Amino acid sequence: MKKNILIAFSLIFNCFLANAQNPIIKHIFTADPAPIVYRDTVFLFTGHDTASVSATNYKMPDWHVFSSTDLVNWKDYGAALSPKTFSWATGDAYAAQCIERDGKFYWFVSTFHKKDDRSNGGAAIGVAVSDHPTGPYKDAIGKALIINEMTTDLKHAWDDIDPTVMIDDDGQAYMFWGNGSCRWVKLKKNMIEMDGEINIINPKNYIEGPWVYKRKDLYYLLYASKGTKPEMIEYCTAKSITGPWTYQGIIQENVPNSFTTHPGVLDYKGKSYFFYHNGSLPTGGSYRRSICIDEMFYNADGTIKKIVQTEAGVAVK
Ligand code: CA
Repeated sequence: MKKNILIAFSLIFNCFLANAQNPIIKHIFTADPAPIVYRDTVFLFTGHDTASVSATNYKMPDWHVFSSTDLVNWKDYGAALSPKTFSWATGDAYAAQCIERDGKFYWFVSTFHKKDDRSNGGAAIGVAVSDHPTGPYKDAIGKALIINEMTTDLKHAWDDIDPTVMIDDDGQAYMFWGNGSCRWVKLKKNMIEMDGEINIINPKNYIEGPWVYKRKDLYYLLYASKGTKPEMIEYCTAKSITGPWTYQGIIQENVPNSFTTHPGVLDYKGKSYFFYHNGSLPTGGSYRRSICIDEMFYNADGTIKKIVQTEAGVAVK
């Protein structure tokens, strides 16, 4: 009898979900969204949660790529990249972002370094490259771009995670990353070498998951913040990518059923969209997350209006 009630409840719940666009991917658990537009198609790069329902830590074996032209129907190209692609890597597939330059796709990923003669282990950032957004991807360098030993302002071993990359109008590329403090460095045109020193900034309430972009003449640095523990999304703006950054406040409150959240911003067909993750799928949670999209609006002065999280989500007509 109880089982029948459970099945009936589950059918009703799934019926509601079927009418909702959020979360946008329902057949697997996904996290850490990183969208781009390439030739009028949206490509979405994600992490992949496979932890069991009772797990108390992440299990993230690979990164997936999805594509869509309406933000509703998503084609899954499967596990396009995994830490196994990098001979130096071991452990989980943490947050990543892929961007295009001169027809090549550079997928900046955070994972963990083997203990070897180059690094004592800990989180590290690598770069994979492909001629197409959906792959096949190979290690672009043959070694990690960032290893734990390169930043020493914080002592924990997982401080070098969550890369975000942007190319400015003058062609100069920048990478921001970090857990606990935010680091940035210039990248050479080849996208696989640093061009100068690593800089450290400490935006108010910063925890991790930065997302950097430029809109009109303003630079934006969004990030997962201390929030109320669980995380929120807060942000800064600046007139120069090198700062100084002005704190602008909270744009996203806590998300349902997940300790973390993670920003990704996309302009597509005349509108702005905010990508994030929560734990809202049935059996979901902090280690079984799902990506959502809601529309994003700016004030006339360039500041961002607070994101309204919806189950209905968005659709491009
Ligand atoms: Ca470090």
